[in-house]
Formats: sequence, structure tokens, C-alpha cells
Amino acid sequence: NTFTEIDLGELLNQNIRRCKYVKPTPVQRHAIPIVLGGRDLMACAQTGSGKTAAFCFPIISGIMREQYVQRPRVARTVYPLALILSPTRELSCQIHDEAKKFSYQTGVKVVVAYGGAPINQQLRELERGVDILVATPGRLVDLLERARVSLQMIRYLALDEADRMLDMGFEPQIRKIVEQMGMPDRGMRRTMLFSATFPIEIQRLASDFLSNYIFLAV
Ligand code: AMP
Repeated sequence: NTFTEIDLGELLNQNIRRCKYVKPTPVQRHAIPIVLGGRDLMACAQTGSGKTAAFCFPIISGIMREQYVQRPRVARTVYPLALILSPTRELSCQIHDEAKKFSYQTGVKVVVAYGGAPINQQLRELERGVDILVATPGRLVDLLERARVSLQMIRYLALDEADRMLDMGFEPQIRKIVEQMGMPDRGMRRTMLFSATFPIEIQRLASDFLSNYIFLAV
């Protein structure tokens, strides 16, 4: 019933304590061990349930062990190890702020990219290096088309508020993004799909993107 009981690593545990999180919320208590145990996850969870930490903790914990893996060197292209997709600029910025607090002093670099703002500043941030990219679907497609981001090395994918992303018409962009990760190789990748509701469109995404997943409703 504490975060220390979940094997997240000492540095991440210190950051969790610094954020004054003592007891995991239900979605955190169930989701984190599922992903650390190597399974994909479909979670029905509302805003306020603590879902942001539920996907950030296993990502940061996993990336802390993998951030030194050799990545290709291609001029101006960066190779993040984790991708968090969210529907809006506001939500992406919130996730980015939280993820940065949790990765304090771990060496894990978190960058955010969203539409409706000039791309140049975001490109400069990306050039300084990125382990975890938080992005809205439209801006990420733009970065992929410019070959400034490659998804070949993605080990963790989280889709937050998936039902809202579909309502906003992002399904073609999301499918394009996930296709670039190499669907046949998805054994290498842990995928987490978070949605407040579970209609047929989300069930279809889950069966297309997740392998042998665990369904969690809190
Ligand atoms: P979320 O559902 O991710 O938007 O989180 C809702 C709010 O709860 C945010 O302000 C979090 O910082 C906070 N929160 C999440 N998990 C915990 C926890 N285990 N203990 C205390 N506060 C938390």
C-alpha cells in the first residue's frame, strides 16, 4: 500500500516522496505492476484518478535502465524511448510538468511538443536530446514528416484520454504514428491505453495496438 513496495527504483521513490505522494491511488496500485511486469494495459480511468503518475512511473522507471542504449546518429533526427500522446496542449503541458518532477535528477529527459505554437522552439528543445516525448498527434505527425523525430526506438507508448483524441478526429494521425513504431515488433514495446469510456472505437484501437493486454477499470 505504499510506493516503496513497488520496485520503481530509489531515485524515483525519492521524487515521489518529494511530490508528497504517499499512498498509490487504485489505478496506480494496479496499473504500475502490470506494466513493470511486461504486460500491455487498457485502463478505464477518469481525470483525477491519478492516471498521469500511473503511466509516468513505469515509463520513467524503465527508461532509467535503458537511457544509455545506443541510438542511431542521423543528423537532426532524435530517437525518444517513450512517447506519451495526449489530445490537447493543456493536457500535454500538465503531463510534461509532472513527468519532469518525477524524473528530477534521474538523467531522463522529457520534452513536450504541441500544435498551435511555433515549431522552432520545440525543435531546439528536441535537439538537446529526448528520452520521453509528450506530444499532441498533429504536431507529432509534422515532426515525423520533417524527419526530426523517429519512433524506431520507442519502448513505451502511452495514449492518454484516447476517447477524447478520437472525438477530436485524431484517429488517422494516431494510426500513422503507431505504424511508424513497427507493428510486428511490438513485443519490444509496452503500450498503455487510457480512456474514460470504452466504446467500440476504443476497443478496436486496443485490439490493434495492444498485445495480450490486461483490462483495468477503476
Ligand atoms: P490525474 O488524474 O493524473 O490528473 O491526477 C489528479 C491529481 O492527483 C493531480 O494533482 C496529482 O498530482 C494528484 N495525485 C496523483 N496521484 C497521487 C497520489 N498517489 N497521492 C497524492 N496525490 C496524487
